[in-house]
Formats: sequence, structure tokens, C-alpha cells
Amino acid sequence: MAAPTFLFSFDFDGTLVDEPPHPAINPGLNSFLESVQTQGGVWAVNTGRTLFQALDGISEHKIRPVPDFIMAKERELYAPTQFNRWVDVGDWNKRCQKEHKRFLKTHRKLFKRVRAYLETETNAQWMEGMEETPGVIATSEEEMGKVCAYIEEETRNDDVLSYERNSIYLRFSHTAYHKGSVLQELARHLDVPREKICVAGDNHNDLSMLCPTVAGFRVCPSNAIPEVQAVVSGSPGGVVGNGRASFGVLEGIQRLLSAEPEGQPAP
Ligand SMILES: [Mg+2]
Repeated sequence: MAAPTFLFSFDFDGTLVDEPPHPAINPGLNSFLESVQTQGGVWAVNTGRTLFQALDGISEHKIRPVPDFIMAKERELYAPTQFNRWVDVGDWNKRCQKEHKRFLKTHRKLFKRVRAYLETETNAQWMEGMEETPGVIATSEEEMGKVCAYIEEETRNDDVLSYERNSIYLRFSHTAYHKGSVLQELARHLDVPREKICVAGDNHNDLSMLCPTVAGFRVCPSNAIPEVQAVVSGSPGGVVGNGRASFGVLEGIQRLLSAEPEGQPAP
């Protein structure tokens, strides 16, 4: 099978889909995605949502064609079979699950400390589910900033523990697994060089993929947080779109691909 002409990796919430009262998606999104596939490109969702939640969102907003790949929980990689069953791609998910299981065991004491800190010093909540790595829900961005500063301090010498922050939500993770590394794994699998990759995101957890070493083209919508806008606009190949969510993303992509000589625009 020939390598795709281009690979698009889109965060979902805040990047493809907006919140009320704003229009949820750009009416031109589906024809754009169709043109990507028609021209030999692939498109993928790269989200903090679980696979099930991502599929739910895609169906709720009638996004078509369905993505060629879904990267879920900021680290797992799935592709659909011809019967529309979503399955692992290679052994990445197995390796990822195994490493996370191990890391949960070795970091029990730290999680206990963070939990005690949250209970005594903040109004933030500790979150723990059966299949999830633990996480935190803060009551505001400011409080989450404080929680992150505490965690950074506590884990200064820890080269395994990291976290993914999305607004007031945080989930602990292994340093080797994030949106950037799962996208690099997909690119390796598809044999697509970084010069043919375009990513779009709006929040902290997108920073690992909004990176020149991961993708030649990087876009964020106008609703992206200031940190993301600064990173995206700070180097060639990056554009802050004029418009929210998929309005800004599509406009930014058009602008970026038509201006960039190293690009081979798919749409
Ligand atoms: Mg987002």
C-alpha cells in the first residue's frame, strides 16, 4: 500500500467541535475531509476522549467521512476494520497499557500525596476509575494551575511520571505516551514524514503534537489557550486561524498550505 499523501491529526473538542452558543462545526468540514481522502490523504482524530466517546461525538455531529484513525485518551491508537470494528494498530496499545499498569504501581505513594494535597489545600477533586489512570478535576483554570505547580514540584526528579492537562482536567500519564508520541507512531506505521503532517489543537494536552519535530504544519483556532497560540505562531509552519474551532482550523490550513513551499497540499 502506498504511503498517504498527507496526514491530518485533529484534536476533537474545541478544535473540530465548538461549544454552545457557538456553531458546533464549520459546514465545510465534511467536504474538506472528503477531499483529503479523495486525494490520497488520511485524517485522524487525536483526542483525550475514550474511543467510545470519540465515536459518539463524530456521530452526534454527523462528521463524515469517519476518520481513518482515532487516537484516544491522548495515547491509544485505533483503526477501523472493513466491518467498522475499531481495533488496535500494531502492538502500540498493548505496550502502552503494560507500561501504564507498571507506572500506576510504582507511583502509588505519589498519588496518595497528591490526593492529600487536593483534600487539604484545594477544592479540586481526585478522580480514579477502573480502566483509567488517576486524574484531577479543578474548580477553575487558576486552581488547576496551582495543582500543576504542586505536581511539578513533587515530580521534579521523576522521569516517568507526566500528566495531560486539558483546561480544568488533568490525567496522569507515562512520559513516553501522549498525543505527540502516538501520532509519531501512526506516522511511522503509515510511513509519512513530518513534512506531510498537519496537526490542529487548542489546549495544553495538544502541545506535544503541536511541535515542529512532530508535524511540518501546525494550526490552532482563535479559541485556543494563549500558551497554544504562542507556540503555534512562534515558528514557521504554524498558523493561528481566524475563527473558532473548525472555522479557524480550516481557514488556517488553507492559509498555511497555500503559503508554505515545503507543503504538498492535499485539499
Ligand atoms: Mg481540545
